[in-house]
Amino acid sequence: MSTDESPTTGPFDAARIAKAVRQRLQSLQRSGITSIRTPNASQPDLSSLQTQIDNVQQNSLLKESQSTNEIPTDDQRAEAEDHAVEIAVEPTPPTSPPPTSPPTPSLTINISRETAVMPSKKQSELDIVCQEVADCIACAELASTRTNTVFGVGNPNARLVFYGEAPGAEEDKQGEPFVGRAGKLLNKIIEAMGLTRDEIYILNTIKCRPPGNRNPTPDEQQNCAGFLKRQLEIIQPEYIVCLGAIASHSFLECKTPIGQMRGQFFDKNGIKVLCTFHPAYLLRDPRRKRDVWDDIQFLMKDMGLTIPKNSEGVT
Ligand code: URA
Repeated sequence: MSTDESPTTGPFDAARIAKAVRQRLQSLQRSGITSIRTPNASQPDLSSLQTQIDNVQQNSLLKESQSTNEIPTDDQRAEAEDHAVEIAVEPTPPTSPPPTSPPTPSLTINISRETAVMPSKKQSELDIVCQEVADCIACAELASTRTNTVFGVGNPNARLVFYGEAPGAEEDKQGEPFVGRAGKLLNKIIEAMGLTRDEIYILNTIKCRPPGNRNPTPDEQQNCAGFLKRQLEIIQPEYIVCLGAIASHSFLECKTPIGQMRGQFFDKNGIKVLCTFHPAYLLRDPRRKRDVWDDIQFLMKDMGLTIPKNSEGVT
């Protein structure tokens, strides 16, 4: 996805291998693996190390596809801790004379709980805030009319957060943001970027549905602001896309018309903030989809994302 691939200077280029190792370790971490040790393994040569790294990735991808991004339970983590993932590299079959050197050593990766795992640490921090949101009664009207609070959803390590206005009827029913008609259009935008909801995070200015889908009041936004602040402190996104005027004005504390805010980044505490039209507005005025797609491409370019070949943009 990233276009910042560093040029390869050779098969054993140290930067390339370091990058590969980092990516694979991140991937392992996402699938619940917490630390790696290589006890008693004699020093493998670089080519066998690269092979083993590739094997680690395959192993991790397999685990990821099985767990589909789920945060492992304590039991799963404990199970992982108890089982070492053996990565045995088959010795290369002899071509000419039999090898005189010993067979390539196998790299044993032990899984232990001793190293903190950022994703699950972040997730457990988010879980605490989520419970506080569920218990919140700061806005008496909202607390008495809501079915569910709508905390937010996505990847705690997301680089990108979509920031909407407030839950609607469907979100109130399901307890998840952007699951109604506007949400389906937001999904299309995310797909057009070549991403999934599991790779980004989605939030709203307030966590409860305003009755009749009225706009959230300034007091309601103020009451919820502390939750948002803590969510962002935990997630630490690089980018936030404010969807519509309410989100843009609330987040950037201004009143500038959204049409004048779009197409550029604003800085808020080191986060790059892009404002664009709300998907619900696009449902009312589909001609604005072009503008949103322009904004999204502007964002993707800055994020180093390439538009997928089959992307249809915002349709
Ligand atoms: N509109 C929003 O702004 N947020 C939602 O969660 C759903 C619709």
